Amino acid sequence: MLKGKLLSPNKAKELTTILCEHYKDAKYYLNFKTPIDLVVAGILSAQTRDEAVNASTPKLFAKYKTAKDYAEAGVEDLMKYISRISFAGNKARNIIMAMKLISEKYNGKVPNSMEELVELPGIGRKTANTILINAYGIVEGIPVDTWGIKLSYRLGLSMQKDPEDMEQDLMKIVDKKYWHNFAYVIKTHGKQICQTVPICSKCPVNAICPKNGVAKQL
Ligand code: SF4
Repeated sequence: MLKGKLLSPNKAKELTTILCEHYKDAKYYLNFKTPIDLVVAGILSAQTRDEAVNASTPKLFAKYKTAKDYAEAGVEDLMKYISRISFAGNKARNIIMAMKLISEKYNGKVPNSMEELVELPGIGRKTANTILINAYGIVEGIPVDTWGIKLSYRLGLSMQKDPEDMEQDLMKIVDKKYWHNFAYVIKTHGKQICQTVPICSKCPVNAICPKNGVAKQL
């Protein structure tokens, strides 16, 4: 467990509700048109900035559209489009293996359950949540990415270290009507206000936030 001030359940709910209302239009950051695109973007996004993924995917998505297209590609073929993305070789291999599974086991359709999605290479619970929400409108949990990890601690919402444990804490606090875009609310807040040196003077939750780990603020 991390050391810091954990908000009471009531205060945590109040803080998350304020943020969710403040950023109610926050949306998923990665570009995609189909569930297949979304699986690929999700695999590419691990430890990679959204902007880098969005810069690489238009040409990739124009060339490869179906699970079979990817399943029949070689690593070198995909590398032509994703070489600027971190761990590109591993990600290309995961994409090809995931698409082979989707092609053979699910008849080319991206599965729509958590259990099936997390079996795909390169897909963990965070990305599976993202696929369920954005491809199928199924809200089973809250995706916890690097912004979620950083800000859940800073805002006193969870002292867990593991993102899946953090997700369980958040699911107890955040009103279920906000789960579908909570990850994007947090990311938008992090990018706009709660940066490395947070702009607390402009923050809508300044009066409640315990500011765990904040050494300097504006
Ligand atoms: S900007 Fe400051 S007050 Fe707002 S959430 Fe971040 S650390 Fe807390």
